Amino acid sequence: MRYDPILKEWVIVAKNRTVRPVLGKSFEKKKKTWTCPFCPDAPEGAGNWVVKWVPNRFPSLIDESGMSFKNEELVDNFYKKRPGKGRCEVILFTQDHEKTLGDLTIHNIEALIKLWQERQEFSMRDPEFKYTFIFENRGEIIGVSISHPHGQLYTFPFIPPKINKALQSANEYMENNDSCLYCEIISVEKEDGSRIIVENDDFISFIPYFAKWPFEIHIYPKKHVNYINGITDSNAVTNFAKILKKVVKKLDGLYGFTMPYVMSHHNAPYNCGNVNGYHYHIEIYPPYRGKDRVKYLAGVELGTNTIINPTNPSENAEQLRNVEID
Ligand SMILES: [Zn+2]
Ligand SMILES: [Zn+2]
Repeated sequence: MRYDPILKEWVIVAKNRTVRPVLGKSFEKKKKTWTCPFCPDAPEGAGNWVVKWVPNRFPSLIDESGMSFKNEELVDNFYKKRPGKGRCEVILFTQDHEKTLGDLTIHNIEALIKLWQERQEFSMRDPEFKYTFIFENRGEIIGVSISHPHGQLYTFPFIPPKINKALQSANEYMENNDSCLYCEIISVEKEDGSRIIVENDDFISFIPYFAKWPFEIHIYPKKHVNYINGITDSNAVTNFAKILKKVVKKLDGLYGFTMPYVMSHHNAPYNCGNVNGYHYHIEIYPPYRGKDRVKYLAGVELGTNTIINPTNPSENAEQLRNVEID
């Protein structure tokens, strides 16, 4: 990992990743001309399972014995670098190559939620790490190389900048108001109502007031939990599976094609002191702004980190609410 002294951020340099296979295209057309590594007839997908995790064969970060991010800060001429310690896992959602998250049964999605919880809990036991990032990249446009329904998990030895900034805000809000910033946002969104997509007893989903992407959806457990593992009640797990399925189905129904997106789980960091103000949730970023229109991050976004949303979040939420699903 190389340190950017200007933005004070770590950059992962992972040259090995350029050799990973690109299988997306042939599978999008549903013609099996390759052996998919995650299908039951391949070694990684073998066995009798509903959901399964495997180590990423092309990891950006590695966890070898004796390797430590903490203690070795190496000076490289003027610059600083550290060993690229971390874990990269692949989470297989189903054995069925042709399905997507929205097609899975509630029972299957519940099993996936439990696997996410288990891997989160496992990572948190290691004192060398501070953050576990669970996510799904979906669609060729996002750069997905294998179309078998799967997500990933990265375990970092540091708190990533976006999460760190959110934690600072959450802590500050908690200190000043004696309440959770995210819980406040949930109650404000409920009161307004115009941006809500789907809601049930335990979860709520909405396009936030400050959405950066036209169809950016946040899914929150109503109960304040710092980590996905905090959702233990079996009814809450079922309601989690239900809202996840509904939200994805609505996105897929919006333009009549499987909506590409990045689904990002925001758990609190660990091994870093007080994180009580942090409220676990999911954020989904689809890159589309219209049926044939993709929003790209360009000059203002990439040059200044200031995002321009060319649409109105309430109108987009209404469109999603109106998408009929089974
Ligand atoms: Zn497959
Ligand atoms: Zn909260």
